[in-house]
Amino acid sequence: MNESILFKGATVIDPTSGFEGQQDVRVKDGIVAAMHANLTADEADTVIAARGLWLTPGLIDMHTHLRDLGQKDKEDLESGTKAAAAGGFTTVVAMANTDPPVDNSSTLAVLLARIQERAVIEVLPIASVTKGLQGAELTNMVELSDMGAVAFSDDGMCIANLAVLRRALEYARLTGRRIISHAEDKDLSVGGSLQECCGTSSYGIKGIPSASETAAVAREIEIVRLTNAPYHFTHISCAASVQLIDRAKQDGLPITADVTPHHLALSVDDIEPFDSNYKMKPPLRLQSDQAALVAGLKDGTIDAIATDHAPHTRMEKETVLEDAAVGVIGLETAFSICYEKLVASGALKPSHLVELFTTKPAQILSLPLPTLKVGLPANITLIDPGHRWAYDPRSGASKSHNSPFAGRLMTGKAILTVFRGKIVYRDDTYLSSRNNGA
Ligand SMILES: [Zn+2]
Repeated sequence: MNESILFKGATVIDPTSGFEGQQDVRVKDGIVAAMHANLTADEADTVIAARGLWLTPGLIDMHTHLRDLGQKDKEDLESGTKAAAAGGFTTVVAMANTDPPVDNSSTLAVLLARIQERAVIEVLPIASVTKGLQGAELTNMVELSDMGAVAFSDDGMCIANLAVLRRALEYARLTGRRIISHAEDKDLSVGGSLQECCGTSSYGIKGIPSASETAAVAREIEIVRLTNAPYHFTHISCAASVQLIDRAKQDGLPITADVTPHHLALSVDDIEPFDSNYKMKPPLRLQSDQAALVAGLKDGTIDAIATDHAPHTRMEKETVLEDAAVGVIGLETAFSICYEKLVASGALKPSHLVELFTTKPAQILSLPLPTLKVGLPANITLIDPGHRWAYDPRSGASKSHNSPFAGRLMTGKAILTVFRGKIVYRDDTYLSSRNNGA
């Protein structure tokens, strides 16, 4: 914990304070000890030559499946948080659909104790909206929130009964916490594996129409209008959803939204036939949807980026597409994929991208805003935006390898992650070659 690290000449990007510029940053005793244009190295310092690198507040992922409790063959708190640290995250928000789900105080207490024991970064739990994710009886949201749940969600078990959703929103408002919606009309999507295009299904497989998302978004917006309670749409994937959310925001409704890296980077045209690493919910949509998602980030309709990191075992994925588990991992590739798609392409400025991964998710969840300031806990991500690297899920920290980006050559990478002053991830190959070359 007494580690002393001196970052020399980094480009500090801090969207919360608005600061962007070259600084030396010293981390000591768990906090940011000094920030100045020129700091002299002490003997105790580990010096990191950081010229040309971005130094940002630690990234936040507001939608992660860590699978602990109960599904440790897929992931657990240690492997999941190590994968997150490797992706530059110092905070992840863990979804409630574990086994058992986080729907009561004793389960949440077990999870919180495990987080203390095993997580290498901060893990903030989400509790479910309904007991057993059944969409009927509400959990004790006030108690769960008091214990530390930062939001409520049944995620993939989208609440179909709008009277239940209305009551849930009224209770959530009492806690000051948001409900996070995976908007999906299950009657429309049932049995589907990939996007339905032009009235037909892809590769002869039953499709999922965009309406299964947009119809759910539209009706849930009406319940927000009724209750005026804060509400968040996660992994928005359709152009029409972006439009609906834009209109709802213009009406002054307390709605926010996020998008995943894979929905930004991939469309139905990128799917490798019958490869279940392209099977997720919502499914990969059309190129026109991708463009609308980027535009939605650009104009602020979409507030944040979240991974929906969804680890599954090989056995669950390596089967016929219809039977394969739904979802892909994403913690270790999120930043790179978004950097390429959004910043290298010229769509967003670097500080906007960092904001989508830091300040914005913190605002949505009412967390302390991440910032780099002398005296505050040192949660820091060091990024080389120009670093070219090839992604191999098998050499990553996650227990699962179900990524559509396996083998992809990427640009931009988190190379060092500091949580509360401690290095929780370092890309040793990168750092040694950089220091040798320097
Ligand atoms: Zn979901």
